[in-house]
Amino acid sequence: MGRMLPQMSERFYVNLPLTTGPFTLDGPEAHHLATVCRLRPGNEVCLFNGDGCEYPARIMAVARREITLEIVGVDQPPRELPFKLEVAAPLPKGDRSQFLVEKLTELGVTTFVPLACERSVFHPREGKREKLERYVIEASKQCGRNLLMQISETITWERYVGIGNVEELRIVAHPYQETTSAELAQRVKGRSAIRIAVGPEGGFTDDEVTLAKSHGWQAANLGPRILRVETAALVLAAHVADWFHVNS
Ligand code: SAH
Repeated sequence: MGRMLPQMSERFYVNLPLTTGPFTLDGPEAHHLATVCRLRPGNEVCLFNGDGCEYPARIMAVARREITLEIVGVDQPPRELPFKLEVAAPLPKGDRSQFLVEKLTELGVTTFVPLACERSVFHPREGKREKLERYVIEASKQCGRNLLMQISETITWERYVGIGNVEELRIVAHPYQETTSAELAQRVKGRSAIRIAVGPEGGFTDDEVTLAKSHGWQAANLGPRILRVETAALVLAAHVADWFHVNS
């Protein structure tokens, strides 16, 4: 009952294979379940491990350090986009990179690629992989995703533009372009993979845009105002996800 809706029961992430039957939860998630959520024997929760499924479970016993659960089923609710969506952008500073990773996860993005561009400023603290993966997990708990958005290694723009093939729709956001992102809408249909890229606060250099175009990327503007990195990435990701539904 109500299992398809993520808000119906609290979701807990475990980095272990799951299957029906008894399961013991320990560590920070056990603490969260018992102390923060104040769940008790008889309550129902939902476990997931990023394998695409979720595992409804009943709490059997709550001890100080571990929770005994009975996994009662395996569900695979459809919460993914029907195509692969990759978003590449330089990580913005501080809280803004957390915001970006969290929202991209909510939008259903498959992979996030941190970019190194000519004008990008590298913020080592924001770039820590485990930290970014933690944001992905937290966002997935909240939004109901059972596949985790992947975080790639940082890659230079020069290398990144050469990846992929002409069957993919590849869009680079750049102000002052004649084509608007909406005009690319018709090209979404039938694609199994879409890549979108956003530049650093200092913008892409002309050479970087020219290089991308020579590899088959389409440059598009997102309107007459300059958006910050995370706004541009989220607007474009949301457009693409939406176009697909409109056109399919
Ligand atoms: N001063 C920079 C703006 C950088 S904004 C410049 O002149 O290019 C950071 C990134 O967000 C840009 O590199 C671009 O990828 C994206 N972006 C921001 N506003 C945009 C707009 N109106 N149209 C297209 N892309 C935009």
